[in-house]
Amino acid sequence: MTGAPTNIRAHQNEQILELTWEDGRVDRIPYHDLRCECPCASCRDEWTGQRTIDPKSIRSDLKVEGMEGIGQYAVRLAWNDGHSSGLYSWDVLRRLGGEHSSGP
Ligand SMILES: [Zn+2]
Repeated sequence: MTGAPTNIRAHQNEQILELTWEDGRVDRIPYHDLRCECPCASCRDEWTGQRTIDPKSIRSDLKVEGMEGIGQYAVRLAWNDGHSSGLYSWDVLRRLGGEHSSGP
């Protein structure tokens, strides 16, 4: 299990979510990628895990309108396109972040 980040910052102008982890790693994940990878049932096929959302349908002026911690394992992100059912677990965020970080 991935531990909770020590800090989460939403950079609305850059459209980047910045996460600082317990081990000191800092991940900067573009909003677009987060929105694409929304783990909720309406954005992914429950059985195959395949994405059903079209990345091209995601608005370019995407913003995070709200963040809500879910227990000790996830954060719910509310987007300005009206979608707010995605629970992003630390594992998912850590994986997405890993795709963008160049360091160890
Ligand atoms: Zn979703």
